Amino acid sequence: MRLLLVEDDDHVAAALSAVLRKHGFDVTHARNGEEALQAVLPAAGGASSARGPFDVILLDLGLPDQDGYQVCGKIRKLTATPVIMVTARADVRSRIHGLNLGADDYVVKPYDTGELLARIHAVSRRSVSGPAGTGTNTGQGASGDSGDTQAATAAAGAPLRLGSVTIELPTRRVSVDGTVVQLTRKEFDLLALLAQRPGVVFRREQIISEVWRTSWEGTGRTLEVHVASLRAKLRMPALIETVRGVGYRLVAPAA
Ligand code: CA
Repeated sequence: MRLLLVEDDDHVAAALSAVLRKHGFDVTHARNGEEALQAVLPAAGGASSARGPFDVILLDLGLPDQDGYQVCGKIRKLTATPVIMVTARADVRSRIHGLNLGADDYVVKPYDTGELLARIHAVSRRSVSGPAGTGTNTGQGASGDSGDTQAATAAAGAPLRLGSVTIELPTRRVSVDGTVVQLTRKEFDLLALLAQRPGVVFRREQIISEVWRTSWEGTGRTLEVHVASLRAKLRMPALIETVRGVGYRLVAPAA
């Protein structure tokens, strides 16, 4: 997997690059916003794929030459490559700002490397929207990554397991501790959408557009009602996390 690391601190960049390379990533390092945009630029012209020269971009928001949010916005205009913002600013407002600019996820410093790797895999899975069976060239690194395994089984039509909850996509069956739970069509669609990309924040508009196939703002409470209903039926209120002001994400329970 090709990764662009945008980070002005050489020490941080060197340490992180070493870890990422060990996990099979092909890392390109950009020290500032200008270098990052130059690296991404080839994607804008010619016959290169929509995903550009990288599979994922890790963007530190604290850059010396440009505002990281602006860089994020510019990258989004150039390429569809998933962007994970790396920020020291843990406040909700700045995270929302980044997500609104088109970032796919965020990680707050100091972060756990394992968490970072999981998020990288999650956003790259999400962007691989081709037919089942694609995306198998991720995680060639050692240590059996459970995220990749989950993605592979989902692609093969095997059930998704999230703690006590099991989701069978082809048959639209959902069970909790082996007992089938009756979900409405929209409840299932919503759960399936979130469950196929655990850890990734879905914006409200995105969910409404994908599940309800409408952008009508008047659907307002419908989404909240469905989320509440899912939480109750699955008896796992923490499974679907509300990201205030943005949307929702599915939090995969620890095995
Ligand atoms: Ca920095």
